[in-house]
Amino acid sequence: MLPERRREAPHRLAPAGPVYSGVLPRHLYVHVPFCARRCSYCDFSIAVRAAVPATEFADAVGAELRLRHPGRDPWELDTLYFGGGTPSKLGAEGVARLLDTIRRRVTLAPGAEVTLEANPEDVSVESARAWRAAGVNRLSLGAQSFDDHVLTWMHRTHDAGAIGRAVEAAREAGIADFSLDLIFALPDALERDWIRDLESALALQPTHLSLYGLTVEPATPLSRWRARGQVREAPEERYEREFLAAHDILTAHRYGHYEVSNYARPGHEARHNSAYWLGVPYAAVGPSAHAFDGSRRRWNVQAYAAWMARVAEGSDPMEGDELLGAESRALEAVYLGLRTARGLHLEPGEASQLQSWLEAGWAELDPQGTLTLTPLGWLRLDALTEHLTVLRSRY
Ligand code: SF4
Repeated sequence: MLPERRREAPHRLAPAGPVYSGVLPRHLYVHVPFCARRCSYCDFSIAVRAAVPATEFADAVGAELRLRHPGRDPWELDTLYFGGGTPSKLGAEGVARLLDTIRRRVTLAPGAEVTLEANPEDVSVESARAWRAAGVNRLSLGAQSFDDHVLTWMHRTHDAGAIGRAVEAAREAGIADFSLDLIFALPDALERDWIRDLESALALQPTHLSLYGLTVEPATPLSRWRARGQVREAPEERYEREFLAAHDILTAHRYGHYEVSNYARPGHEARHNSAYWLGVPYAAVGPSAHAFDGSRRRWNVQAYAAWMARVAEGSDPMEGDELLGAESRALEAVYLGLRTARGLHLEPGEASQLQSWLEAGWAELDPQGTLTLTPLGWLRLDALTEHLTVLRSRY
């Protein structure tokens, strides 16, 4: 059976996670749900607001942190990540206020990575200077495409020119570490030139790139368009062609393909997301935020109003949690290892059972017994993960 390819949703966060037991996590995710409008492909937990209630939100984040992590024991972070939604919609003062609130409970370790997801139209020299002064040292820019026709189809709120202006403004403000998000495998009818978009991105010299294949999620404008026959997904061959072309072009430009969807210049790998992929504990606050304490995952209610109401009355905004059993842990260990260039250490005797992967060019095995997937293997990540997990379950 030919394994199925792996697709990742745009902006999709890694599997998340908990109720904290013991040591405080070194990583904190804050979900900022505000967006100007919903993009055509997006099923994230967002709150569309013409005027963003930045003060109300910062206060609620502070309340959830106090509720979830009471006490005065020192809590130091290596990474802090503002994701969304569109955190840059908080503006210059809103981000500073939020960081100020968070710092009442945590301290940032020297050299901590502080990332803000931003839409290009929100980045000006003034806003970027304020973010940097508040502690932000890395931006993740939702570029998606450099084609105005495509951006309009996606319901994005920026045009192609805004991406370059945002990069220039960030650099002028002293933030040189930035990532660009791009989406590939768009419907044929859009006639999007993927190679030209990659070249436009490279011309801006980002330190990091995240590339996601378009997926049709339920209850999105895109799924309605598909149901009405107005749009068809890109064929499999083009998905694979664009994924592999990106690998060839970006690695030729000295970007390491260090995770199935992520590329970085040496030393600029995303430390926060890498914590997810290493399976270490992380805290998370905000609507729909997922956290993990090393054994248990927990996730908050999705809707902004419901999350606000719970936090305001001093009750836990958790919607659910899950203790990872032996089976889930085994599956996760395989999945997290295979999705990164770090790879997975094979158990004695396993290599001989995975010979077909090596022969097909889906994986490579080093002399120490570490198996890493090739780009061809990453196109089949889900199926290969399942295959190896089933093999291991038989021991
Ligand atoms: S800006 Fe990001 S989070 Fe907001 S609707 Fe668009 S894709 Fe979704």
